[in-house]
Amino acid sequence: MSSTQTAQLMDGAGLARRIVAEAARHASEITRRTGVTPCLATVLVGEDPASATYVRMKRARCARAGIASRFVGLPAATTTAELVDTLGSLSQDPDVHGILLQHPVGAHIDERAAFEAIAPEKDVDGVTMNSFGAMSFGLPGFTSCTPGGIMRLLDEYRVELAGRHAVVVGRSPILGKPVGMLLLARDATVTYCHSRTADLGAVLREADVVVAAVGRPRLIRGEDIKPGAVVIDAGYNPGNVGDVDFDSACERARLITPVPGGVGPMTIAVLLAQTVDAARQQTGATTDVRAEC
Ligand code: NAP
Repeated sequence: MSSTQTAQLMDGAGLARRIVAEAARHASEITRRTGVTPCLATVLVGEDPASATYVRMKRARCARAGIASRFVGLPAATTTAELVDTLGSLSQDPDVHGILLQHPVGAHIDERAAFEAIAPEKDVDGVTMNSFGAMSFGLPGFTSCTPGGIMRLLDEYRVELAGRHAVVVGRSPILGKPVGMLLLARDATVTYCHSRTADLGAVLREADVVVAAVGRPRLIRGEDIKPGAVVIDAGYNPGNVGDVDFDSACERARLITPVPGGVGPMTIAVLLAQTVDAARQQTGATTDVRAEC
């Protein structure tokens, strides 16, 4: 870390631990009250080692939080129709409260069709159009997990959003787009940047809040950070490297997320919390399930 660092670190790992502990308490309360253990179904198509590791990690976290998980492994040759069928069955299964389809799925599969087969009330990963609509309109529903985690981090550090210029770099359906919608719902003035943005640096230098969601190591450099800005690095690249050049950004930012230990742990924490919320809603333990933003 640079000796001239001034930025305060945003401790996603610590906040995630607290969210998971709270989810675990609620899970055990649901089990005690209703006899039902909250259950997340994880669906993996093919044997991509990174995807398999992510699913294993999520299931292990579930187990530690008192959440059951049901693993559904499908062969790489699974068709869109077969996957839609599987997700439709899980959506109908009363013992399953949340569904996670690990993505990316194979290129031969219509990923959007698969996501849309997940019932909205079980979409704890926030990947359906219904969930995106809820995030956009500020209606009850589940957030995409990484965007939801980013909003919780911003709230934890009491970052003022109303009237501030938030620049989101990246526009993917699960990360860039929804986080921009959540920021907009909180009255930030939002600019989206992407691979065709003409002068990324010029836009970034106007940003009070930067959300990097690209997948290009150290793309965003300190010289493009406005002094005093809040920098959220959702990027995760080989070698534990984010999308932001951490050392140079620390010299300008007021608050910054480290990689690892910033946004990453928040994603799983939100997944677990939303699974418990889904179970609570479906078991009738309470109906208080709202987009956390
Ligand atoms: P994605 O679907 O590949 O989207 C990347 C986005 O970045 C696209 O919108 C693309 O623009 C834009 N982009 C690419 N090159 C750019 C450039 N040079 N300048 C500006 N924008 C550029 O990726 P994703 O799934 O959103 O993931 C983004 C990053 O977040 C990855 O590092 C991923 O590993 C990480 N991630 C982390 C978590 C977590 O839990 N921490 C969760 C999800 C993702 P176009 O739309 O024009 O192509």
